[in-house]
Amino acid sequence: MLALDVTIAISEHSYQSAKAFLDFLRRAARKHSITLSVSEQFPVVSADAQEMLRFKWPRDINVSVPDKDRESFDLFLQELLLNQGLYYYLCTVSHRREVAKSVVYPIFQQLLESNFKVTYPSLLRRHILEGSRESLMAGQFVEETGQEYEALFQQWKLRMISGYEFIRGVDDLLNGFVLLQLEHKKGDPSPKFNRMVGECGRKDILRTKEIRKLFNLVHSLRTRGLHRLEREIPDSEVSQIALQLYWYFEYLDDYWKAQDRKTVIRRGKRYRRVRYGDEIRYLNFPIPEGYQAEWEKISSGPCGDCGVISGELHLDGCDMERCPCCSGQYLGCECAVEDSGE
Ligand SMILES: [Zn+2]
Ligand SMILES: [Zn+2]
Repeated sequence: MLALDVTIAISEHSYQSAKAFLDFLRRAARKHSITLSVSEQFPVVSADAQEMLRFKWPRDINVSVPDKDRESFDLFLQELLLNQGLYYYLCTVSHRREVAKSVVYPIFQQLLESNFKVTYPSLLRRHILEGSRESLMAGQFVEETGQEYEALFQQWKLRMISGYEFIRGVDDLLNGFVLLQLEHKKGDPSPKFNRMVGECGRKDILRTKEIRKLFNLVHSLRTRGLHRLEREIPDSEVSQIALQLYWYFEYLDDYWKAQDRKTVIRRGKRYRRVRYGDEIRYLNFPIPEGYQAEWEKISSGPCGDCGVISGELHLDGCDMERCPCCSGQYLGCECAVEDSGE
């Protein structure tokens, strides 16, 4: 792995909280024998110009981890999430929600993005803000595959099963999952796993290349173990897979919940929720020239925040969703005050 080197732009407003959070990360990392360096970089210029740069906002802060510590750092980030370390950190600061939103979330998301191929911003936001939701504890999934996955995940986390046993269990589970999604008839011979995964991609069931890769990776680790008795899978690799799949099933659960929730009560009245792609009809400001065409182009791809595709309903907590009552941002408008919380 290469050394990690991330530059984070910090506004004047969040400077102190950002420094405090990075300091917390640095100290916590040191307990894991990881050298995390935090520095403010000023280009080499004259002393006067340096002085000027100190007052320039936003300011760049550089976070780096040497390559020898990269793998441990990877695990460290995962552990912080698993143990709800960010949530507990936030319990110790004042203006918790504000710091969560403007400091902890953006910084951590940036670090995750440099370590994981797939991240789910809206989930992370919730984990950080509602750590006590017990979302990484037992019994949160509604959908059956998610529930089964969670059981495996907990057993592995508690070291009740080995990494390979976990992979084997997950492979069985994913196999059943794709067969079910593709409405495969019982008794028919099942196609090769990676073929089915490809088919799920074409049918918009497994939407991202990364998730299809992850499914295939689990399957190849399992078969490798079967044929060549290579059952020693490094902990860091199992951990990456475990967490990414956890996010995936959590995402899927949220996705189904969101599609089921077709209406919402705002200011005492029931409305149909605004679907992704229809936002243009619900803007509370005049549409700038050329914006409609641009929006159509943008919304032909997945929602930048929650990942749904055109015509679907946004996930809970998505910052793109419009309010059907006032046309403002669903997350930010005032209409929910009288929402009966349906
Ligand atoms: Zn969305
Ligand atoms: Zn509203």
